[in-house]
Amino acid sequence: MDIKYLDLQRISQAYEPDLSRALEGVIQRGWFLHGEETKLFQQEFAAYCGSRHCLGVANGLDALTLILTAYRDLLGWNAGDEVIVPAYTFIASIEAISRAGLTPVLCEVRATDFLMDEARIEPLIGPRSRAILPVHLFGKVCRMDLLLSLAEKYGLKVVEDCAQAHGASLPDGRKAGSIGHAAAFSFYPGKNLGALGDGGAVVTNDESLLRHIQMLANYGMEQKYVHLVKGINSRLDEMQAAALRLKLRRLDRDNRRRQEIASFYLSHIRNAHIQLPEAEPSESVWHIFPVICTERNRLQHLLSLHGIQTQIHYPIPPHRQQAYAEMANLSLPVTERLANEELSLPLHQSLTDEEARHIVSIINTFTC
Ligand SMILES: *Cc1c(COP(=O)(O)O)cnc(C)c1O
Repeated sequence: MDIKYLDLQRISQAYEPDLSRALEGVIQRGWFLHGEETKLFQQEFAAYCGSRHCLGVANGLDALTLILTAYRDLLGWNAGDEVIVPAYTFIASIEAISRAGLTPVLCEVRATDFLMDEARIEPLIGPRSRAILPVHLFGKVCRMDLLLSLAEKYGLKVVEDCAQAHGASLPDGRKAGSIGHAAAFSFYPGKNLGALGDGGAVVTNDESLLRHIQMLANYGMEQKYVHLVKGINSRLDEMQAAALRLKLRRLDRDNRRRQEIASFYLSHIRNAHIQLPEAEPSESVWHIFPVICTERNRLQHLLSLHGIQTQIHYPIPPHRQQAYAEMANLSLPVTERLANEELSLPLHQSLTDEEARHIVSIINTFTC
């Protein structure tokens, strides 16, 4: 049996023939940017998240960068002002801060659920702190109330990185993207809500923030050929919006299937050498299913011998990357351990029960 980590061909096939029809519709109408599909997707996605506004942009990194840049303009933040971000994340969360001319301040994470450790945030707050950027990593929403009360106390903005958490919610029902002051989503094909190429979105209740981002993302243009700020070009096109509208309608169902598989993994993986993630199946949308193993590379090798593809998230932590040489002296032992010991098992909405059973049976035979 050959099991891909992510089977995008099979995932796309599950939306046919509707997906091809939606794309043909766009081609027939001959309208590719700033059209009806994008407008409707923005409305539908804002409503889905439980927020007032959504703006489609080119990718998740742009969504994050645009939010931070807009806050700089609107609130008068200076170059080098600080944003607190988890040390263990996909590097885009951190690059967005750098791209906005701000300084990332890395916060250690918890080894149990991989999220930013709220207890370690307050000591990082100083006179130049301007925002906290929580990442709902692997599909689980951070403890936002703790972050929001810290933000209130110190006058900070909370910008959610929701790139791995489409449709995830807190136990009280508040959805990722509606809890902080602004949120960024990515629709990279492998995400829980994935486009057929790049895509992203900003979601917020803050109308003036959204209007400013709209201008920044459109060449800094306030009205045709009148440019108030130096902007960029970042937009979601009609083809992507049409595909995303269709997939959004099935997102809850797709996430429930992910939870079903996660639940199976959590209750059937029984191996003293393997630590399972600490989350109830319903507490996450399981963008990634991480296990921790001190002999991670051997476990990965065993699985690959049995045709099971896995991935590592993320093998080199941001503060150990050459791109962030200025952070090389930081000591972040939990982040460093996770980089050495994390292994991600195949988990997506089109994985079959038989495949999940095969994966579990091999993992349970692993010995150190
Ligand atoms: C995927 C991802 C991003 C970046 O999204 P792109 O659309 O690839 O730019 C940002 N943050 C996290 C946590 C991600 O997983």
